[in-house]
Amino acid sequence: MTKETKQFQTEVKQILDLMIHSLYSQREIFVRELISNASDALDKLRYVEAADAELQTDSADRQIRLIADATNRTLTIMDNGIGMSYAEVEKNIGTIAYSGSKEFLQKAQKLKNQAELIGQFGVGFYSSFMVADKVTLHTQKAGESTATQWQSVGDGSYEIETTPVRPEGQGTSICLHLKDLSSEAGEDEKSQDFCNEWTLRSLVKKYSDFISYPIVMKVERQEPVLDEKGEAIKDQSTTVSKDETLNSQKALWLRNPKEVSDEEYHEFYKHVASDWENPLDKIHFRAEGSQEFSALLYIPSKVPYDYNYREIKYGLSLYVKKVFILENCEKLLPPYLRFLKGVIDSSDLSLNVSREMLQQDRQVAAIKKALIAKVVRSLATLLEKNRETYEKFWQNFGPTLKEGIPSDQANKDKFLPLLLVHHSNGAKLITLQEYVDTMPAEQKDIYYMTGDSLNQLQASPHMERLREKNFAVLFLIDPVDEWVMNSLTEFAGKKFVSLTSGNLDLDSETEKKTKEEKIKGHEERLKPVTEAMQEALAEAVKEVKISDRLVDSPVCLVSGSDAPSAHMERLMAAMGQDMPTSKRILEINPNHPIFAKMLTFSKDKNQNWAELLYSQALLNEGSPIKDPAKFSKQLTELMVNL
Ligand code: ADP
Ligand code: MG
Repeated sequence: MTKETKQFQTEVKQILDLMIHSLYSQREIFVRELISNASDALDKLRYVEAADAELQTDSADRQIRLIADATNRTLTIMDNGIGMSYAEVEKNIGTIAYSGSKEFLQKAQKLKNQAELIGQFGVGFYSSFMVADKVTLHTQKAGESTATQWQSVGDGSYEIETTPVRPEGQGTSICLHLKDLSSEAGEDEKSQDFCNEWTLRSLVKKYSDFISYPIVMKVERQEPVLDEKGEAIKDQSTTVSKDETLNSQKALWLRNPKEVSDEEYHEFYKHVASDWENPLDKIHFRAEGSQEFSALLYIPSKVPYDYNYREIKYGLSLYVKKVFILENCEKLLPPYLRFLKGVIDSSDLSLNVSREMLQQDRQVAAIKKALIAKVVRSLATLLEKNRETYEKFWQNFGPTLKEGIPSDQANKDKFLPLLLVHHSNGAKLITLQEYVDTMPAEQKDIYYMTGDSLNQLQASPHMERLREKNFAVLFLIDPVDEWVMNSLTEFAGKKFVSLTSGNLDLDSETEKKTKEEKIKGHEERLKPVTEAMQEALAEAVKEVKISDRLVDSPVCLVSGSDAPSAHMERLMAAMGQDMPTSKRILEINPNHPIFAKMLTFSKDKNQNWAELLYSQALLNEGSPIKDPAKFSKQLTELMVNL
């Protein structure tokens, strides 16, 4: 077929531009990226072979080969993995699949450390352009009888053509025509020769030692010449070239944690998680009992940029006795642990286990259960031993972990000690236990309020009485908190009580008695006002009621004890979900001077003011007012008549 010249997708062009013009340090990571891709391709081949008995592939040993050609200044990375079809080359190498790529690029272009985006974004392949001024890729997909040649100098376009079969059979070779870096700024870059055996050796050791396929390179060695008896002839040697495997291929997760260095853990993380940065923490263990397996799990140090996309794949890589089976195996992890990256290696599952079989497998369920238990224990230890790291984890993934409370009834209680919450009496996040431990003796319940922001909650009229009593309130501002709180009743024998619910019980029995009497008195005194308000707001609220909840504000809205909170209603509305809005109670502060004033007004005027007060109550809690135009008009009139 003829050679065609095609344009890269805009995002790819921008990335290539970054690679070529902005990234001067850490160029060597292209080795890791290309080897990682080769390893993925070999994994995929193994997977399709297991699933499709018909597929005929070249049965040569699965391996990754580095071919350095110092004369022509090229380095080729070759694998006999799954390979790519013509269409796949166009798709995988010419475009970026993620829908959020544009948004991400914009962010990346502002980012100082642009290197960060390489790993996060999975632009692995394009890193070749950091060291090469021309890249040639030759690939043949397993089962196909033609190959595809792709070539680019990174200038915005590439050439692609179909070629006859690859002499090596299925797989991919990527030939890098190395740039002359001798004029580069950094000393490291100058001295690094990517054709040099020792450079490549040390890079493989550094980044890819754990890769489970042999990474082979031809090396030349001087060997003595032997005589007929097989003995070395003195002072005579000859150059022989032979294959050498550069990596130990040791499955890191099966090793004793004491014998694995931090560097090794970090490099392996970058490989499994396609991340650039080191992980925040790891959980490495071997489970024995009903299911035997080893697991190496990582907590990323940042939220992956595509974490909140609905299609995001999550899950661990599943191995059975060191043989790779599946990536993104989500059946092993509940959704609320989806931030974890890593591998699990079972000694008990069968080698031909498939995604479908995993669905109902009892063994898988047992593994999942053991994983959850271990993760919970590890997080508890982290919280206890290293609060700072735990808080970082919490800031990134706390909202995800919290989903476990409403969704995993069996483990719900284990998550409670792991919660960190904001509260009204300080900026520090606290645990529920810390909250309970510092409760004043007369406080009976755990008070909380949900809302959109800490400032809004702190300023809420509902806080007034609590502040007077010096009771702390938990401030819950993650969208998921509404669901979490709906499924919680108590902690350490204390009830959770929403501060905005109808019957807030803050006082002792004697306090209550005197208050009840006082309120009766106020009810008598303010009757004309409350009746006028009630009439004016009959559509909007269930009741206008005198209460002792407020200290400084005139009014606030409260929900019935079983009714959803205003915040919940707003959340549902934001998601386009209809929810029967329940009428709430407008509580008024009888000591506020406004009501003494209203006693002197006509009924009409009181009704007008009732509407104004109701609108204020809505605004205070962050809810929209129904008719902003009317509200403005009423307010203006009020100002005019002042
Ligand atoms: P990622 O590995 O994160 O997907 P890359 O830029 O490294 O991103 O690779 C892009 C895609 O190109 C891969 O997902 C894969 O489909 C394809 N690819 C790259 N290298 C190879 C290879 N050696 N063999 C087969 N496919 C490959
Ligand atoms: Mg890659």
